[in-house]
Amino acid sequence: MSEQTKYLLEENQMPRFWYNIQADLPTPAPAVLHPGTLQPVGPADLAPLFPMDLILQEVSQEREIEIPEPVRDVFRLWRPAPLYRARRLEKLLGTPAKIFYKYEGVSPAGSHKPNTAIPQAFYNQQSGVKRLVTETGAGQWGTSLAFAGSLFGLTVEVFQVRVSYDQKPYRRAVMETYGARCVASPSMETVFGRSVLEKTPDHPGSLGIAISEAVELAVQREDTKYALGSVLNHVLLHQTIIGQEAMEQMKMADTWPDVVIGCAGGGSNFAGIAFPFIGHGLRGGQKSRALAVEPAACPSLTRGKYAYDFGDTGRMTPLTKMHTLGSQFTPPGFHAGGLRYHGMASLVSHCKELGLVEAVAYHQVECFEAGVAFARCEGIVPAPESNHAVKGAIEEALRCKREGKAETILFCLSGHGHFDMASYQKYFAGELTDEGYDEVDLAASLLGLPQVP
Ligand SMILES: *Cc1c(COP(=O)(O)O)cnc(C)c1O
Repeated sequence: MSEQTKYLLEENQMPRFWYNIQADLPTPAPAVLHPGTLQPVGPADLAPLFPMDLILQEVSQEREIEIPEPVRDVFRLWRPAPLYRARRLEKLLGTPAKIFYKYEGVSPAGSHKPNTAIPQAFYNQQSGVKRLVTETGAGQWGTSLAFAGSLFGLTVEVFQVRVSYDQKPYRRAVMETYGARCVASPSMETVFGRSVLEKTPDHPGSLGIAISEAVELAVQREDTKYALGSVLNHVLLHQTIIGQEAMEQMKMADTWPDVVIGCAGGGSNFAGIAFPFIGHGLRGGQKSRALAVEPAACPSLTRGKYAYDFGDTGRMTPLTKMHTLGSQFTPPGFHAGGLRYHGMASLVSHCKELGLVEAVAYHQVECFEAGVAFARCEGIVPAPESNHAVKGAIEEALRCKREGKAETILFCLSGHGHFDMASYQKYFAGELTDEGYDEVDLAASLLGLPQVP
């Protein structure tokens, strides 16, 4: 047996195509509906928000979509990303399982999000767009789009969720370093933001509100488009570079995962690592379980309703069928800000309904505990979001120990936590609590779901 712990691909082994799971699904995902007519949206409906290349990817049924060379050229700054075997963690747990992790924290922004920010900026620039408007929760997406905008000469404006704006001043400093402008959301700069602040002047903000503000600005100007960092089909598509590289690296390690794990906020890094493996199984290859790990404080996949809902709080976006807590739900202000979204990617939800995806939820304190154990074995301090994937992998490894099974576990370490050390400080000070959501608030939010016949 080799004692190898690090699996690196050559630059010329970087994937040339993104993998589109829609080509392999036994039934297509339910259509996206226009919020006014409740009819399926066509490309023209989405044109005020996105450039046509991205809209076509959104609806494409092609299995492979070529990664443009200028995008691959930027990716070479950090891709292919390394795959590690967590031997010291295996030893600590005393598990017969092999644990592998794909590390996406090597990107300039410190997470997987540049995998989609770069192509999104590229396609927008190609279509003549000058300005991108977006939202950010934890700051990771805003950072990634700010970075991408700086490379492709686009102005970037970021509505940053208020709690994160206040808790993470360094995140804002990074976005400003890349040249972006940050606004705390809810803000006075949009009609919707002003309406929220009128009712609740100290509103902590949410991704759903920030999305409404960004969309409101984007549709006002011809030279401005909107960019979303998760949830949409084209975002999940771009993230499949993670899983495709991991497949090559699993071959190098001479094994294949029994289970593939990712944390799930909007579902993009999870889909990125899991969809290529799910597709491999659907096409007759060796099957892997796919396990999404979400926060117990915002449990869309495990506790949400599978229904049509808006992607934002202001009810401006198209309706997608997904596991949702309701677009009016404001999750508590826990520390994995990137997982505080009321809904889930429609493709991930559809795969869960088809039995191709499993989901589990954990509380934040046990996730930090897992992240600290991981850091002390493997050296990398995970992002609070990624701690959920670490927790999921540890639980699977402990199950293998109980059952005496030498399974192979693969998880996505979606980013490092260097900008989140305040949350680690709180954890060590014993100040981190397991936030429950308000059941009454959730019930009310679910009652408010749009009626779709
Ligand atoms: C944004 C983010 C997530 C959650 O988003 P997904 O779309 O579910 O991947 C997870 N981990 C990190 C490090 C993030 O920045």
